[in-house]
Amino acid sequence: MPDLSDYRSKRDTRRSGEPSGSSPAESDRPRFVVQRHDASSLHFDFRLEIDGVLVSWAVPKGPSADPSDKRLATRTEDHPLDYLDFEGRIPEGEYGAGTVIVWDTGPFDNLGKKDLSDGLADGHLKVRLHGRKMAGGYALTHTKLRGDDRNWLLVKVDDGEAERGRHTVEGEPESVLSGRANEDL
Ligand code: MN
Repeated sequence: MPDLSDYRSKRDTRRSGEPSGSSPAESDRPRFVVQRHDASSLHFDFRLEIDGVLVSWAVPKGPSADPSDKRLATRTEDHPLDYLDFEGRIPEGEYGAGTVIVWDTGPFDNLGKKDLSDGLADGHLKVRLHGRKMAGGYALTHTKLRGDDRNWLLVKVDDGEAERGRHTVEGEPESVLSGRANEDL
C-alpha cells in the first residue's frame, strides 16, 4: 500500500528543503519523474504516480532506451506528489544529501492488464512514458535478484521508441525544467 510514513520519518523537510507532501496536486492523468540525484553515489530516482503518491525506485545506472539493458531498480520509500518538480540541494547531514534535478518528466499510460496498484502488488508494471528523454513502453519487474526483496528490473519494451545502443543517460545530464545540471545547484 502506498503511503508517506517512511518519507516523513526519514527526513525533516524544513531542514532539507524538500516538499512536505501537505498539498498534493492530483491530476487526471498520472505523471512520472526521473530525478538525477548526485548524492553519496550518483543515481536516478524513477517515480510513478500511483494512488496519490510517487512510487519510487533508485536506478544506479539510469534508464536505457536499449531493450537489451536490464537496469537494477531498487524500491525506495513513496514520495509525495509535490516531489514531481523538486530540484535543489539537500544539505550535508540530511538524508539523501546532495543535488537533485528533474532529469525527465511527463504523463504516462498504464499498458498493463491490471490497474497500477494491482500491478505494483503483483510485481509487474508496464507503462508508456511521454517524456522528453524517455518515450514508449517500459517494464518494471519485481525480482529477488541478489536476495533483496526491494530489487526490480527496469527494461525498455522493444517498440517503436526503442533504440539499440542508446543507453540514454550519457550526454543528457541537464534538467528538462530548468536546463540546470546538478553542478549548477
Ligand atoms: Mn535518490
